[in-house]
Amino acid sequence: MLIYSYQCKICHKWFERLECESQEPLMFCPFCGGMVYRLVSETIDLDFQSSADEHRNQKIQRSRRLKRKSEERTKVLSRKVRRSHEKFQI
Ligand SMILES: [Zn+2]
Repeated sequence: MLIYSYQCKICHKWFERLECESQEPLMFCPFCGGMVYRLVSETIDLDFQSSADEHRNQKIQRSRRLKRKSEERTKVLSRKVRRSHEKFQI
């Protein structure tokens, strides 16, 4: 499972969503229906009893790749995030 942070281009609300890796990324703001940016993604390991270390390592490596990929965009967008004081959990 991954946590994705989004910010709306229109109303600038900032919210997080927990998604399965197979789930489609959120495209539209749940508040106003505007387009959203995907800001950061973090991996959380909900499956603590999960066995194979190999499997876990693969997950970690994959999340690192994702972070690197989104790093550039995150830097560009960070000013907008700081301006937004509200954070929503959906
Ligand atoms: Zn919005």
